[in-house]
Amino acid sequence: MTSKTLLLPAATTTLGVIGGGQLGRMFVHAAQSLGFRTLVLDPDAASPAGLVAHEHICADYLDEAALTRMAAACAAITTEFENVPAQALDRLAHSKPVAPAGSCVAICQDRADEKAHFGASGVACAPYAVIDSEAALAAVDSALLPGILKTARMGYDGKGQIRVKTREALAAGWDELKRVPCVLEQMLPLALELSVIVARGRDGTVVQFPVQQNLHRDGILAVTQVPAPGVSPALAEQASAAAARIASEMGYVGVLCIEFFLLQDGRLVVNEMAPRPHNSGHYTINACDVSQFELQVRAMAGLPLNPPRLHSPTVMLNLLGDLWFDAQGNEREPAWDRVLAIPGTHLHLYGKASARPGRKMGHLNITAATAEQAQQRAQAAAAVLSLPTEW
Ligand code: ATP
Ligand code: MG
Repeated sequence: MTSKTLLLPAATTTLGVIGGGQLGRMFVHAAQSLGFRTLVLDPDAASPAGLVAHEHICADYLDEAALTRMAAACAAITTEFENVPAQALDRLAHSKPVAPAGSCVAICQDRADEKAHFGASGVACAPYAVIDSEAALAAVDSALLPGILKTARMGYDGKGQIRVKTREALAAGWDELKRVPCVLEQMLPLALELSVIVARGRDGTVVQFPVQQNLHRDGILAVTQVPAPGVSPALAEQASAAAARIASEMGYVGVLCIEFFLLQDGRLVVNEMAPRPHNSGHYTINACDVSQFELQVRAMAGLPLNPPRLHSPTVMLNLLGDLWFDAQGNEREPAWDRVLAIPGTHLHLYGKASARPGRKMGHLNITAATAEQAQQRAQAAAAVLSLPTEW
């Protein structure tokens, strides 16, 4: 495939996305806003992105006929789903530009490969060991305990992770994880969590959003704040430079999110990365002059990438399915009218028909002229929704 492909926005030019979740939906919105036609490949007939795209191919990601149809219809293809088989991307790349490349997605899909890539990029991560055999388990350095045992592949939202304090617990944990390849990471004393979203073009241009500060509850992102209140300018610079190196080192094209930990002793270590727009970047839709989704469109189409500008301090609250149930477990609609009465609130619901506890149903971006005001408004919105008002 030529690497010089430029796709000008046009109603006859189709951008395709593999995966039909909320990230795909917001990508489709951005692509349509620029004037492109859109196509989604997802096996779920009611997928959030499939519902809004011009065309939805309802099939498995490895379905040969579906991939052939997608390659024929699309001028360029991206993914919103981290665990899309890299072979599907490689297969499509034979005939159409694909961004990010299957090789980059494959690195991000495997925590061991990912950590090796961080090392190659000169960015420190938590001390760790790969556990993929009885011998590797026996050889683990006890200094890694207490630690977190994570499956090397397919983990998300804290799933596939077990906290272990002793060698016995480690062995039992690996059994529990069915002895699939894992990494054991030392449990680090975190001061806070942050992430950086970069977009890299085919010509190597890298632009990035300001650093986001993230709070997780039960392993799921709950709150993102921008500007990041606990991040100094020097630390933000360090994280941004590390993120750019990580993207450039693998020749990445598209939007990439890199999660970091700030340790209590002031050190910055990288946690993991996602080869796509990210939940912690949803604030960009309302807070920046270009969103992470538009940058994904621009990067895959070979259009110019301008450095994004944050125009409004913002707090993003994730809206999980729990909000759709009252204390007795009865289904209800959250009081959106009261939330939307608060100035600067921007509601984004993903069109999922059924709510389940822990399911990402939407998010709320709360913008204001100052960070203090965004914070106050976000606390008011959280109170209306009976969410914790401390973060
Ligand atoms: P997601 O993909 O949804 O971001 P995940 O399932 O891939 O999550 P991680 O990001 O690896 O999981 O870990 C989830 C959370 O667990 C982190 O955001 C952090 O709060 C905590 N955590 C993970 N690794 C460590 C560590 N080594 N030390 C301390 N806390 C950790
Ligand atoms: Mg994570």
